[in-house]
Amino acid sequence: MIEVRHLTKRYGAHLAVDDLCFTVEPGKIYGLLGPNGAGKSTTMNIITGCLAASEGEVSVNGHDIFEEPVEAKKCIGYLPEIPPVYTDMTVDEYLKFVAEAKGVPAKARRAQLDEILESTGLTDVRGRLINNLSKGYRQRTGIAQALVGNPEIVILDEPTVGLDPKQIIEIRDLIRALGRKHTVILSSHILSEVSAVCDSVMIIAHGRLVANGTPDELTKLFAGEREVHLEVKGEKAAVQAALRAVEGAGDVSCKTENGVTHAVLHPQNGADVREGAFWACAKASLPILEMRVEQASLEEIFLELTQADGQPDAAQPPEEKPNPAEGGETA
Ligand code: ADP
Ligand code: MG
Repeated sequence: MIEVRHLTKRYGAHLAVDDLCFTVEPGKIYGLLGPNGAGKSTTMNIITGCLAASEGEVSVNGHDIFEEPVEAKKCIGYLPEIPPVYTDMTVDEYLKFVAEAKGVPAKARRAQLDEILESTGLTDVRGRLINNLSKGYRQRTGIAQALVGNPEIVILDEPTVGLDPKQIIEIRDLIRALGRKHTVILSSHILSEVSAVCDSVMIIAHGRLVANGTPDELTKLFAGEREVHLEVKGEKAAVQAALRAVEGAGDVSCKTENGVTHAVLHPQNGADVREGAFWACAKASLPILEMRVEQASLEEIFLELTQADGQPDAAQPPEEKPNPAEGGETA
């Protein structure tokens, strides 16, 4: 379990993470969703103890990441945005090196690494130089290093970025499988990715949490934005008068072109106004040529939420970089 309370990070005058609060419950897959520059990597680097916060608290299974970093970090495996793999090592050599760095007891090492190689689909390429692996297999190696030490929580920063569609599907399947044994937090700027894999979604924009829930909950939360569109044969005044009288129709906007009026109803409190609209038009002798319901998709909700204040993200030169390799001072 991770508790993030009032987390804030400033890079100089730039506020990258702004008073972020959330809780991560065990056994679920969480998605941190936000456009580039939203503050995902910064948040993950702080939660994993790779970067200091400006303000706020992070506790991992009851251990404060700033006060008891060793205990807190033992609970977490991390794949940073730039995977900390050494390309001149074989997969096996590299994972052994990570196991030593993480202090996995020598006796348990071989069995644990074999299990990780198997679960990440790397057994067949264990003797290959990482340099000679495809991007998908390199990413598997990055995920494998996060699993060394058998952490309860696995944090993956944009795990599918730069992969081809087939590799993306394979990595998603791998993440789903990880979710059966670990709590997983992954970040992505692609909504379909998060809704395909995650039980819970946290949408962040400009360092702030703007929405939080299951993909279904988020869709329902915004279900009020249902619109009913009608094409009605008749002039604007008549169509508007008929439809405005429909119970729950809400705001009715109309535009007439070539004798056909396009009307949009914004039903109040999710009212189903379709039958009412039918009878109202029938009684006024206004034939309905077409009727359809439009509902904001999760994609639209995401775009609206994350573009709300419309600030394009200015690329900032890096000032402070976290150390990507955990305990990797020999690199
Ligand atoms: P994301 O991972 O969501 O793309 P980041 O956490 O990398 O977002 O960045 C959040 C904001 O902080 C961005 O505006 C970025 O330019 C800025 N930023 C990130 N790292 C640094 C840094 N080391 N120094 C200065 N600004 C940074
Ligand atoms: Mg990032």
